[in-house]
Amino acid sequence: MKYVSTRGTAPTLGFGEAMMTGLARDGGLYVPETVPQFSHGEIAAMAGQSYEDVAFRVMRPYIGGFFADDEFQGLIAAAYQGFHHAARAPMVQLGANHFLLELFHGPTLAFKDFAMQLIGQMMQAALAKSGERITIVGATSGDTGSAAMEAFRGLANVEVFILFPHGRVSDVQRRQMTTPVEANCHALAIDGDFDEAQARVKDMFNDFAFRDGVRLAGVNSINWARVLAQVVYYFYAATALGAPHRAVSFTVPTGNFGDIFAGYIARRMGLPIDKLVIATNQNDILDRALRSGDYRTDGVRPSISPSMDIQVSSNFERALFDAYGRDGGAIAALMAELKAGGFRISQGALEILRATFASGRCDEDETLSTIRHFWKETGELLCPHSAVGVKVAEEQLGRAPMITLATAHPAKFPDAVERATGIRPGLPPHMADLFDRPERMTRVPNDLAALQALVRERIAR
Ligand SMILES: *Cc1c(COP(=O)(O)O)cnc(C)c1O
Repeated sequence: MKYVSTRGTAPTLGFGEAMMTGLARDGGLYVPETVPQFSHGEIAAMAGQSYEDVAFRVMRPYIGGFFADDEFQGLIAAAYQGFHHAARAPMVQLGANHFLLELFHGPTLAFKDFAMQLIGQMMQAALAKSGERITIVGATSGDTGSAAMEAFRGLANVEVFILFPHGRVSDVQRRQMTTPVEANCHALAIDGDFDEAQARVKDMFNDFAFRDGVRLAGVNSINWARVLAQVVYYFYAATALGAPHRAVSFTVPTGNFGDIFAGYIARRMGLPIDKLVIATNQNDILDRALRSGDYRTDGVRPSISPSMDIQVSSNFERALFDAYGRDGGAIAALMAELKAGGFRISQGALEILRATFASGRCDEDETLSTIRHFWKETGELLCPHSAVGVKVAEEQLGRAPMITLATAHPAKFPDAVERATGIRPGLPPHMADLFDRPERMTRVPNDLAALQALVRERIAR
């Protein structure tokens, strides 16, 4: 399996290199050269298998011999053994034809653990073979950072730097990043929003002297391996509800477009997905873009679903690449326009995107009333992100069973949940002492040179 960049000029890489590289050297994102197809029989055979087994079957064609089969199975087993539910991704029923896929039973209580735990295992195995050291720098709207620290803390050949927007993540999210005691974990609170943090991380990747000097690796969803790990639960959930014999639909609360892009890949592999619905909060650039054809940023407005407070959805570039017939030059031109504020999606590409995705938005009041309604009607406490998904999904219900992705545990966002229901969800036992642990973090300016100096100084210690 080979990986190519969405901007067409970076070298073609194998799986291992694409995982270690993160952002392509032409500023693009790596995507598989061809998407493997699964037959009806191969998909049917996944029903009733363990999560780990489905994971192996779905991801194996993408690994391309980088890990031997038994080694890869061992890494998958190690990745998911720390989850606090035997099913890993259990489903509950919200209504006659509406299901909730609970992706928050991992160690940091958000779906990011599915990919990050596996990447932690895979990178560690790769580094053990090569003897290299790497520096991971990631930007987070809250959950990627905590999942990354959990996956990499204490590893001998990895330093982890996480940039998060100061004052804009929940207390639980911040503490998950600032309380790991391991010296290789560096929590950096940047004076800026998520888009600015993500832009500085991309700047570091685009500074080749710095990138090569510190051996920079990325774990944001620009990393193909993250998207890949998330493809698995689409197959796992769909086959549990009768696919491939019947189609199912998915609604995905979306920020950086990584999670829903994984669903898109699952569909391209042959999984019968009827509707694939983008759900946004008040930061609704994706919903607006699909409706109007205009992809234009207008500043992030902080919301009660902070992990989706994003205007520049990095992985949307991957969907655009396919919609523009895999024309890297066209994508590079659009992304240059985006730096100046936005671009118009061509009519042809817009039709392809509209045939592929539905979309909807959910404002702050609707988020709260959805949490309240489903608590009363079903006893399920939704986190605010999952509630955005559930509200939009309810507008899109049809004949196919609808599966909404529950992306975080309600206890990660207790203030919003309490406002909606009067109930303050408690942290699960493995995290009960989170608020007693000492915090360690560094305030940093939104300034590339200062950030690079800090990274260099820390790794030289
Ligand atoms: C990251 C995150 C999202 C958005 O996922 P993307 O892959 O960035 O679209 C939604 N909900 C929660 C809780 C998250 O942590």
